[in-house]
Amino acid sequence: MSSLSHQCPQCGAPVELQKTDRIFTCPFCQVRLFIYGRGPLEFFIPPRISSPGTLVYMPYWRLRGNVFVLTASRTQHKILDSSLLAVKTNSVLPTLGLRAQAMTLHFVEPTTPGSFVQPDLSSAILKAQLVKFIPGLDLPNEKRLVAYIGDSLSLIFQPLYALEQHFIDGLTGKILGPMDVDREKFHPASSSLRFVSTLCPKCGWDLQGHSQSLVQTCSHCETTWEAGPNQGKEVQVCFRTSVSSPDLYLPFWNVHFATTGFTLKTWSDLIQLTNLPKVPQPWMAVTPFTFRVPAFKIRPELFLNLASAVSLHQPGQVTSTLPKVPLHPVTLPKNEAFEAIPVVLGRMAPARKSLFLRIQGGKIAPVKATLEYIPFVQQKEEYFQPELGMAILKNALHWSTRL
Ligand SMILES: [Zn+2]
Ligand SMILES: [Zn+2]
Repeated sequence: MSSLSHQCPQCGAPVELQKTDRIFTCPFCQVRLFIYGRGPLEFFIPPRISSPGTLVYMPYWRLRGNVFVLTASRTQHKILDSSLLAVKTNSVLPTLGLRAQAMTLHFVEPTTPGSFVQPDLSSAILKAQLVKFIPGLDLPNEKRLVAYIGDSLSLIFQPLYALEQHFIDGLTGKILGPMDVDREKFHPASSSLRFVSTLCPKCGWDLQGHSQSLVQTCSHCETTWEAGPNQGKEVQVCFRTSVSSPDLYLPFWNVHFATTGFTLKTWSDLIQLTNLPKVPQPWMAVTPFTFRVPAFKIRPELFLNLASAVSLHQPGQVTSTLPKVPLHPVTLPKNEAFEAIPVVLGRMAPARKSLFLRIQGGKIAPVKATLEYIPFVQQKEEYFQPELGMAILKNALHWSTRL
């Protein structure tokens, strides 16, 4: 894994952190700060040579996540981990290769010197392109649902020098090729990166949580916060209650959505749409249906199974009281959970062919997501959820913070 280095905004000490950290922790002055960016986080590799040319940084999208392809009869999933040049030029390498792993990265800040070429390929286009090149993934020419769920999407800028109509590699000094990117595309850094206080905006207490978690909690006023541009932004959270006393809570995004072209508002609509073998009951006609998608990184097959099992479980009692047992870190942003909705719907349907016909030409658009924590009881090698009768191996969760 690539390392990341940053000067502490409070005491100036150089601090090493993980690229997956969402909280900056300084071991010298003990400050803890949210790492906030409006879009994907931006990193750069500093040049290793000096040159009389203009220092220019070329953007690469770096993606890591799960890809799902569902057809009427088949479910495929693959782990995607790649980088791709985000600008049209023939002079530089199309991918970062091993560079992104071997080099120390730095955050692009609004004040970082040099010219930055802004990507002309959006991350959505990139995802669609990458899916075509995933080894072993079969894209049959039939109706299908495809989702790319990136648990890590970032921009990595690689250093070049523009000198006398040529690009020179900022790491090796090698001439790469003719300068085929318009100088008008060279801009100063436009990063929105900020380091934001982790003091509770409501009561001033220190927020707590895992350094890789997107949310932090205040045990004093029992509130939950994510990074905002100037301070923490409150997140709506609830905790499912359980018959047994839990040892761990796993976070799920409870996704509210709207459909066009087909109807999916209540549990009755869901049963009709998917042909689920459930006996209709009065509550189903009046209870809104929402999707529950894991808010943490986990292997693709488990991700889809968990989303489906938890979404299909009739919502139980919830409380807003912060439990005393550990909360698993939230490592999957809600925007990525939104991408999963169509494939979760596909996964839930026993007869996918008729579902495809019913949703053809329609759309599901996310409206909002709240966090819902589900309690699990610790057993020898797994965590067990008594209400759902569901178990997750402990090492499957361990994988989720290492990825
Ligand atoms: Zn410090
Ligand atoms: Zn508080």
